[in-house]
Amino acid sequence: MTVSEKRLHQAIDTLKESGVRITPQRHAVLEYLLNSMIHPTADEIYKALEGKFPNMSVATVYNNLRVLREVGLVRELTYGDSSSRFDCNTTKHYHIICDQCGKIVDFHYPSLDEVESLAEQVTGFDVSHHRLEVYGTCKECKKVPSKGH
Ligand SMILES: [Zn+2]
Ligand SMILES: [Zn+2]
Repeated sequence: MTVSEKRLHQAIDTLKESGVRITPQRHAVLEYLLNSMIHPTADEIYKALEGKFPNMSVATVYNNLRVLREVGLVRELTYGDSSSRFDCNTTKHYHIICDQCGKIVDFHYPSLDEVESLAEQVTGFDVSHHRLEVYGTCKECKKVPSKGH
């Protein structure tokens, strides 16, 4: 069994335990997310699966993503633009984002707990979490010559 097959089985177990019905479309959305490393938007998921499910709408994809988010299998990443991206890696990690194509890639770095405790001390807030994003140009976009070069 590959790592992503294992994660799919675990995710399906989580759904079963939460009493969530596993429809073929829900299964496909989950599988697509687990195999996708680019943190797709709902639209990208829809485009990837519409051939397989001609009756599926973008709204169905959103609905499935909401269910998956509610049981904690998917995180929604909002970056101030209209399209949220979805991440099924729910372990702690950071993101690097491509300025050109908007792709989001995971990387691991020890969690910045000191920043959280300092912020708590300085401001008196109860800190819930933090978000760190690194920006740049991805490998694929570097290969495409851009204007002015
Ligand atoms: Zn890129
Ligand atoms: Zn991620």
